[in-house]
Amino acid sequence: MFYSPRMGSGEPTARPKLRWRLTDHEADHPRLFDPGNWRPGRDELSNLELLHVHAKKLINAVHPRSRMRFRWTINAYRGCSHACVYCFARPTHEFLGLDIGEDFDRRIVIKVNAVERVRDELAARGWGADHIAMGTNTDPYQPVEGRYRLTRGIIRALSHARNPFSILTKSTLIERDAKLLAEASERTEVSTSLSIGCLDIDVWRGTEPHTPRPERRLETVAKLSELGVSCGVLIAPVIPGVSDGREQLRRVVRRAVDAGATSIGSVYLHLAPGVRELMMTWLAENRPDLLCDYRRRYGQGRFAPESERRRLGATIDELVREAGGVRMPLRVASTERAGPPRQLRLV
Ligand code: SF4
Repeated sequence: MFYSPRMGSGEPTARPKLRWRLTDHEADHPRLFDPGNWRPGRDELSNLELLHVHAKKLINAVHPRSRMRFRWTINAYRGCSHACVYCFARPTHEFLGLDIGEDFDRRIVIKVNAVERVRDELAARGWGADHIAMGTNTDPYQPVEGRYRLTRGIIRALSHARNPFSILTKSTLIERDAKLLAEASERTEVSTSLSIGCLDIDVWRGTEPHTPRPERRLETVAKLSELGVSCGVLIAPVIPGVSDGREQLRRVVRRAVDAGATSIGSVYLHLAPGVRELMMTWLAENRPDLLCDYRRRYGQGRFAPESERRRLGATIDELVREAGGVRMPLRVASTERAGPPRQLRLV
């Protein structure tokens, strides 16, 4: 049994002073959004603190040096109460002067004007109707979405504008919008993916305990696929020594194929500065036998050696073939705009 990554269960620590831009030089880096006030979450969000802000911009360009295959993203929230120990998005909280541990898990920034901003930006002259990826920095279906419904509103806006988009999530809450996604798929290029790193209950509880069970996520893949929404599985992250066993990977691939996944990809664990220290603490408490190995793998930077990442890619390809391959999407919208490749490979 692993230790849960949620740090403490009491009251959050004193609120830090927020930074509202990336540097003190407004001319170089304009404000990210107008300051708002923290408010306590209620009912099912009662363990959270929520900060309502008005964002200046919602459709953001990906850094040119990024390895990602998409160029534009939308993130209506910052921070994520799914609280996965390995989360690569944690350092984005540091940009605001918040910490990447408990603050990231419990202090969630809500861009309350997200839907209106997206509508305006999609209608603006000069917007090229490029593919937009959601779920790249925080989970668009994390628990706050149940209350704020910003992702739902953004899907409506994208569908209305016939703008191609994709969604990556670990949450079964996406089922709430299945009908909307099916309608959007008739109008434009839409793809969804459920992130499922491993089916072992102990691994799930230890590394991402505030997400829905992996088995339940497979049911979501099947439900979306039945409705004609292209839905893949991203095996992410594959954690060396914890979830990278061939049999562990084979189980995920087989179950994903059975569920009707239209793509199966993988992401090898990468550890940004700060996240690496959190992961090392987690390993020291749960898998001290892996510490030396991690120092070797991640000693030179955030990515494990390329040879290991390539090997993972080849293994997944082999396992997908062995399982009979993924199925083609049932429904392909009549759009000439190109989305990203269906077979995600982000190792
Ligand atoms: S669900 Fe995604 S964004 Fe949220 S904590 Fe986990 S890895 Fe990070």
